[in-house]
Amino acid sequence: MENPLLNLLNLEFIPYSQIKNSDYLPAFEYAISKANESISELISQPNEIKFDLKKFETSTDLYDQIKTVYNNKRRVNSLDEEQLQTEKINDLISKFESSIYMNKELYSKFESLDINSLNQQEKAAYNYHMRKFLENGYRGVNSDTKILDRIKEINSALSNLISEYEKNLVKATDAFHINITDENDMKDFPEKIKISSRKLSQEKGYDTGYCFSLQGPSYSSLMMYCSNQDIRKKMFYEMNHKCNGGDFSNIEIMKKILELRKEKAKLLGFKSYNEFVLSNRMAKEEKNVYNLLDMIREKALIKAKKDYNELLNFVQNNVDKNITKLQRWDLSYYIEKYKKYKFNINSEELRKYFPLSKVTKILFDLIEHLYGINYTLVENEHLYHPDIKIYKMQKNNKTIGYFYLDLYPRKEKTMGGWVYPLKPRVINNTPPIVGIIANNRKPVNDNEEALLSLGESETVFHESGHSLHITLNEMDYKSISDLNVLWDFVECPSQFMENFFYEKNILQKFDIPEDLIEKIKKLKNLFESFWELSYINRCYVDMKLHSNEFDSTMDVEEFENKFKVDLFDNMKGTTLSLFFSHLFNATWDYSCGYYSYLWAEIIACDAYEEFKDGKEVEAAERFRKYILSQGGVEDPNILFKKFKGKDFSIEPFLKSKGLID
Ligand SMILES: [Zn+2]
Repeated sequence: MENPLLNLLNLEFIPYSQIKNSDYLPAFEYAISKANESISELISQPNEIKFDLKKFETSTDLYDQIKTVYNNKRRVNSLDEEQLQTEKINDLISKFESSIYMNKELYSKFESLDINSLNQQEKAAYNYHMRKFLENGYRGVNSDTKILDRIKEINSALSNLISEYEKNLVKATDAFHINITDENDMKDFPEKIKISSRKLSQEKGYDTGYCFSLQGPSYSSLMMYCSNQDIRKKMFYEMNHKCNGGDFSNIEIMKKILELRKEKAKLLGFKSYNEFVLSNRMAKEEKNVYNLLDMIREKALIKAKKDYNELLNFVQNNVDKNITKLQRWDLSYYIEKYKKYKFNINSEELRKYFPLSKVTKILFDLIEHLYGINYTLVENEHLYHPDIKIYKMQKNNKTIGYFYLDLYPRKEKTMGGWVYPLKPRVINNTPPIVGIIANNRKPVNDNEEALLSLGESETVFHESGHSLHITLNEMDYKSISDLNVLWDFVECPSQFMENFFYEKNILQKFDIPEDLIEKIKKLKNLFESFWELSYINRCYVDMKLHSNEFDSTMDVEEFENKFKVDLFDNMKGTTLSLFFSHLFNATWDYSCGYYSYLWAEIIACDAYEEFKDGKEVEAAERFRKYILSQGGVEDPNILFKKFKGKDFSIEPFLKSKGLID
């Protein structure tokens, strides 16, 4: 039978049911040989013919499309790794991709282009590819072969190490669970969680008890409702001790990755890995990142001290007067109690206002209001799991894309939430398909509808912002389409959408009573300072690991603790770097980039100011025109200025987080 992967560019959907695991490797081999052929053809053209950037980009279209399907498959079904022959494929991918940007003749073709003769999109595409050449050691025509060879080795070693790191993380997450047998420890749990954890316990082969794992929703429900502090402490330890020694240790792997990154940056002429990365970011320099982190940390710390006292007082007066100190593993539990007492809200009960179909309906109505796009649910047999829903996106009766939702956890699925262009826009002859992938709690029975938490609903809004950024892009080059924008800007359109979710007129649509809406708005920033501090700590760990201050003889835990500022004690044996998937990730590389979320949120909050006071439709058109449609054609600093008429400011962010009045 023919390999369905080879026909992807012309198919409207990905025919998952027809693709066998054994199809991937030969498809990659074929697509790579085709791409190589067409690149060779371009190179062999006489010098009088201007190098065709567009043709160069399209030569890898089939390869890129197969790779997106493959990457998605791996993240949503990691159990098939062996059958997929991922080791062989990853080797092929890394060899092929580096061969493009290690190709001296191709590089000379790029060098031969007269930049002044290029239009704006071509120039941006050119810069994108030249950066890739730089990343592979090309710094002018007479680049040192020794450096080029070493970079090649480093890139291939890095890709293997990162894949090891990711695998260990999945296995370590899967390897631990706890079975609670004392009913007393379960007394604060809502009935639904008791049922699902009871079910998990049976699945794991226990006769009695309630089982919890390190998968996101299971872990967080335990931390929120388990009255037994020892159990919470144990879970916290297991979560934060993952891959720290033992069968799935990431210690040596992480150190090797960092060493190689440092070596690479130096070979490329940069003082540190941070300097190398930031040279291609909005932030531009390390000091700009630290300035921002320090400023927010200072404000968050002042607020956190107040918040700490408030929470401790509450606990002493209402829960247990003997408690004199709070720890990180106490926070979710006591904050939940605080919410219930002060606001008479329990997070579980709020779920009834957010059935999945209502969340999507309200979101889609909002997007229609802003951008004139409507969504309709379509039947489709080509989905890789029955839980997935797919919607058609139309503007002026023209199909501009598909949007799919894959929202529930499965054992084989990577944790977290993300957006994924399953069919990128520029390279296909059919509309793009963009997915939201998350790990929300699944309804206990198949005929029930999922009830999302406040946070899960907000995440759907967030991810829809990414999907609009991809779908509304109007660029003709794939190097500046999809999410190919400066990495500290990529979370801007998504975090921007979160703002709408908390607007009164949107919350009203969920049929939430007025007084509850007021409470939800207040709850939004409740004890936010604790999470801001822990976020800033994670940013610091990222920045410091990738600075020259870290070397592999150091103890990871000790090193991390030097930069953490927190009101809560460090727990011995816990680290962050050993399971920090943002920094060691084959698909999305946030190394020296964890700060990006904050950076982009600041811009998003400032952009949102334009949408207030009933001006949202006019502002949306400007946002679409200057930001969403523009992809990576210009530095986002410039795009933002075109949209707003001035540089971005930090004030709206501080206000929206309740860090200033
Ligand atoms: Zn995002």
